[in-house]
Amino acid sequence: VEHPPVDLSPDKIRAVEDVVSRGFFPPAYWELLNRVAAYYYTPLIAAIRVALPPGLLGRSQRRIKLIGEIKPGVDAFCTPAAKEILALLQAQPNKDYSFIYLQRQVRNAYRGVRELLRLSLVESYLEPPRLTRPKLQKAVTLVGTGLERDITSRQQEILDVLRRQGGDIWLSELLRLCNASPSTLKTLEQKGYVVIEEREMLRQEQGVLQAADEPKTLTAAQSRAVETITQLAGCDRVLLHGVTGSGKTEVYLQAIAPILRQGKSALVLVPEIGLTPQLTDRFRARFGSKVCVYHSALSDGERYDTWRQMLLGEPQVVIGTRSAIFAPLPRLGLIILDEEHDSSFKQDSPIPTYHARTVAQWRAELENCPLVLGSATPSLESWVISREQGSRGAEEQQQTTTNYQLPTTHYLSLPERIQSRPLPPVEVVDMRQEIQEGNRSIFSRALLEALQQLQARGQQGILFIHRRGHSTFVSCRSCGNVLECPACDVSLSYHHTEEGAPQLLRCHYCNYSQSHPRNCPECGSPYLKFFGSGTQRVAQEITRLFPQLRFIRFDSDTTRTKGAHRTLLTQFANREADLLIGTQMLTKGLDLPQVTLIGVVAADGLLHLPDYRAAERAFQTLTQVAGRAGRGDDPGRVILQTYTPDHPVIQAVRQHEYEGFVEAELQQRVALNYPPHGRLILLRLSSVEASAVENTAGAIASYLNNYITPSWEILGPAPANILRVANRYRWQILLKIATDLQPVLPDWQQVRSLCPNNVSLTIDVDPLNL
Ligand code: ADP
Ligand code: ZN
Ligand code: ZN
Repeated sequence: VEHPPVDLSPDKIRAVEDVVSRGFFPPAYWELLNRVAAYYYTPLIAAIRVALPPGLLGRSQRRIKLIGEIKPGVDAFCTPAAKEILALLQAQPNKDYSFIYLQRQVRNAYRGVRELLRLSLVESYLEPPRLTRPKLQKAVTLVGTGLERDITSRQQEILDVLRRQGGDIWLSELLRLCNASPSTLKTLEQKGYVVIEEREMLRQEQGVLQAADEPKTLTAAQSRAVETITQLAGCDRVLLHGVTGSGKTEVYLQAIAPILRQGKSALVLVPEIGLTPQLTDRFRARFGSKVCVYHSALSDGERYDTWRQMLLGEPQVVIGTRSAIFAPLPRLGLIILDEEHDSSFKQDSPIPTYHARTVAQWRAELENCPLVLGSATPSLESWVISREQGSRGAEEQQQTTTNYQLPTTHYLSLPERIQSRPLPPVEVVDMRQEIQEGNRSIFSRALLEALQQLQARGQQGILFIHRRGHSTFVSCRSCGNVLECPACDVSLSYHHTEEGAPQLLRCHYCNYSQSHPRNCPECGSPYLKFFGSGTQRVAQEITRLFPQLRFIRFDSDTTRTKGAHRTLLTQFANREADLLIGTQMLTKGLDLPQVTLIGVVAADGLLHLPDYRAAERAFQTLTQVAGRAGRGDDPGRVILQTYTPDHPVIQAVRQHEYEGFVEAELQQRVALNYPPHGRLILLRLSSVEASAVENTAGAIASYLNNYITPSWEILGPAPANILRVANRYRWQILLKIATDLQPVLPDWQQVRSLCPNNVSLTIDVDPLNL
């Protein structure tokens, strides 16, 4: 393509920064993005991309398409890559493929495509980026009234409806309300009764109308918390450690109210969409239309419009997930991270692999506004900081810093539930003993009995299962073969579909699926058996054992569609079901006062993960699950089934013992130099070429070894826990940095240059999943 000549006279060129920072971003925002890019070693454009709503910054994509019919045999001399690509294209001749997709699917895709282009078998073109624009709609406004003489009855009806609607309405809405034709409306416009004009219509998630809710009379601990937060200076922080059901949300609400009165905005981050409807409802009931939500489940249009709405600077409360930390609120008065320990605040891909808590700290500093971190089970990171600063005191802290004063973190605790309700007792059931005594069911006798009582008393319960689907793997009883995903080194999960439909095996890593075979593909034996229980299996067992109990499954399979979270939770709250059967997503912040029973079907799946954070995460999850019980007038009860009842995590959960658990855990972290003692940087390498990724990992490791300083050590290169996912082989190198001081880091440019084209490298700073 020939470009027209560009006028390059120097006075016409301005730095992007000058143009962009003037009005496009709120103040201090540009600086925030620069910090993100620098800290996570990513280009600035990647930080901008993660911050902006997706429809604002387009990306053009190269796409590949077949040219006409392919004669048989024409690919006889092609390389395997070209043949493979051709086969993919021919399978669906009318479809075109992005080059990125082909690269993921096929080895040496670049060479293959080049060859096919040369043979004129395919063509390639650049697809222009799709940009979101304001949505314009026609609106009708009433102007002339009183002189309604030459008016027929249809026209009169329109005018009446318009008047009832306050004289201003969207055209489509008006036509719907009075069943009139556009031509009648046109006539009215010509006569000068109404004006029809295009206006911008904001696309925004519509909240459910809430009955107004007055501030509650605070408990002593709550008032102390609200007072401290309200009086925070500058960008000081609070760690709000409140047991489950202690009324943290009420503290947030009452801390936000004065911020809005000062004409400023507040930002509330929550871990997952699953709990946003309930939380947003509570905020809407208090602050009405000042509340808006911002998260990735919104449509591009909704995100785009909400983004521009936020920029206007009206005082508002924005509730959102991870990426909402970039909400462009110009006058930010308070940032709150609820369930601050939750790992979904960390982004694994794409780059930058940021943690919303880290970015929140920078944002608070740059905007000079306070930050509140709330949790029933604070992360070790936040716990350590507040504990150290609490014991040091503010004066001493000022002496330790030189020209820059670090923000202070205050520790606040809400040690009791509202109305002194007790935390639910946790009964640990040893499943080994159940088997010994002849019970082979997935439910212990204690849980069976509790479910029976639930039914008899008409109460509600929750069953927590670590995995979705039916069974976690399928294996052959004759030869021991385990059915695996062809593209990943993991077993396939069995998903039960409706009767009559083909039963599915699905890969939870790449979403590959196939129908369930009748016979073992290795030995032909018909004896295939399911192992490991997912939500579906538990639901089936409930149907079999308690046909009267009505249940709702709550996992990522049943909540895929928009609004499904809200619908299911509302059904449950309205007692249309007795049991909620779900995964991780129901552990977080749900406030369901009628729930008296929690059953953890198998805690062990959480305990034995190959990750230094496994214990911390299991403790947090189980404590949060248990915390869903007994939040109303009826006392709660938790039954925790496990094969390792003596495990320290299980014991800590049973005793509601946070501090003892984290202090023991911290000692191990210190001994092994793991965060929060020291930092980690993980280099993730992947390629469709097994040897390429292994060699590159080796080359990078030896380059890094030249840099070794006493402050850091290198672990690896090593294959990732699951070597192959979606046909890509994955290796990693872990850098452990022992000190908080600015370490001498390698030249990342140099490291990147060691990666050939077919190996991709991600630098994951402060990784959560190893
Ligand atoms: P947490 O977020 O700490 O788990 P919530 O904020 O969900 O706790 O509060 C638990 C329940 O107690 C909620 O139903 C809430 O409405 C109620 N609650 C909170 N504070 C008060 C208060 N001061 N007086 C009466 N009820 C309260
Ligand atoms: Zn077999
Ligand atoms: Zn897979």
